[in-house]
Amino acid sequence: MPMNKIAVFPGSFDPVTLGHYNIVKRAAVLFDKIIVAIGTNPDKKHLFTIEQRLLFLQQSFAEIDNVMVDTYDGLTIDYCKKVDAKYILRGLRNNSDFDFEKSIAQMNQDIEPEIETVFLVCPPHLTAISSSIVRDIYKNGGHIQQFIPPFVNI
Ligand code: ADP
Repeated sequence: MPMNKIAVFPGSFDPVTLGHYNIVKRAAVLFDKIIVAIGTNPDKKHLFTIEQRLLFLQQSFAEIDNVMVDTYDGLTIDYCKKVDAKYILRGLRNNSDFDFEKSIAQMNQDIEPEIETVFLVCPPHLTAISSSIVRDIYKNGGHIQQFIPPFVNI
């Protein structure tokens, strides 16, 4: 049994938003260590490169001591085993997040019962924020600063 409670917060983070930031900041007091991990999904088309997304995450969480950032290939469950994490952290905005996340969490439970998925519900003012809408605004020349963590330099 690991001494530390380590949680992996997996996602695309294309780019990181205030929604992600809120979830990680609140989870940082619940776990000993959080690894915010960019899953490299070859089927998804990304706006920002892995290197850019990693840098934005580093800028976001530099001041929270127990938050690390990383990238991984393959199954999230396998990455969790590699870094000795017993928890997967996910954020919930609405019912469609819940329906989608529930299935993944249940299938992960079948694959690896020792790893628990933990959900935090976002506050009402962040429900509308998604990376995909932030990308659309950015691509069309709009200002995204109010939707991303203050230290991120996009
Ligand atoms: P994915 O590509 O796996 O959906 P994302 O980068 O979009 O990854 O999101 C990673 C996690 O952050 C998911 O659990 C997602 O539900 C959560 N999340 C995204 N936006 C918000 C938000 N505004 N509030 C709370 N959680 C959020």
